[in-house]
Amino acid sequence: YYNDDTVIYFDGKFMKAKDAGMDLYGQSLHYGYSVFEGIKSYTTDQGTRIFKAKEHYERLKRSAELMHIPFEYSVEQLTDLTYELLERNGFSDAYIRPLVTCSPNMSLSKGKKSYLSLLAWEWNNGYLADKMKIMTSEFQRPNPKAFKVEAKVGGHYVNSILACQDAKDKGYDEALVLDENGYVAESSGANVFYEKDGILFTPAKGSILPGITRQTVMEICNELNIPVQETFFKPEEMRGADAGFFCGTAAEIVALDSLDDVPFTKDWKATASEKVQQAYLKRVRVLSL
Ligand code: PMP
Repeated sequence: YYNDDTVIYFDGKFMKAKDAGMDLYGQSLHYGYSVFEGIKSYTTDQGTRIFKAKEHYERLKRSAELMHIPFEYSVEQLTDLTYELLERNGFSDAYIRPLVTCSPNMSLSKGKKSYLSLLAWEWNNGYLADKMKIMTSEFQRPNPKAFKVEAKVGGHYVNSILACQDAKDKGYDEALVLDENGYVAESSGANVFYEKDGILFTPAKGSILPGITRQTVMEICNELNIPVQETFFKPEEMRGADAGFFCGTAAEIVALDSLDDVPFTKDWKATASEKVQQAYLKRVRVLSL
């Protein structure tokens, strides 16, 4: 992720990643009490552009607010700092990881002081599988009555690590995680859609992280006249459907090969999902559309 020259932004200044100190007496390290974002920048027809910076930084501020973490940066400041970070590192196609941590404080009451870190590393999606074999996980999503599931909180991702690693240990690429009622929620780090008879279905909000890519997919569907329904459904309804995909900032739109070893049935190239995928890949790189 970094080398001796990598520049990060931490607590008000740009510095070398290798020089960043870490406070061991903090709620973020001990309790997972942090909020973060996952953002991508692309080489576009108009230079380096951060895709949906406003939406990501609004979500970061909202996550901090929901977790009672003090956080004063504006969306504009955050966006400007991120462009500066990319420039200082000479990155164009990059993954950007803003992180807000709280320290020093070891109590179980709200954070008193927060620190913003901005990290980035070069990224292209080359290493992701073309089509993912996924399995229904026995690990459930965090219960919305126990967590602010719509916030992107460090501690929630312990659940994601358990689900993802369990799927990998069993020979799959990823996990499909259900909510506490047995309805499909999402993967360890992306939202999910499936396609049947030209209609796209995606889990309604409630137990999911409402993804910015999920929202972009719905905008694209609207433009392409592809019907899309937000609803609650069980894995049985998705298994053996025409197609399925995961979507997220990092994953972009990645086709699913099978769910619990039952293949999706339609040739990916002939699906509405593939049209959405192509439109997404164009949208992030061609601003003059
Ligand atoms: N769900 C989870 C659990 C995630 O971690 C992510 C990635 N942020 C997503 C969904 C997709 O969100 P986005 O499209 O905003 O990246």
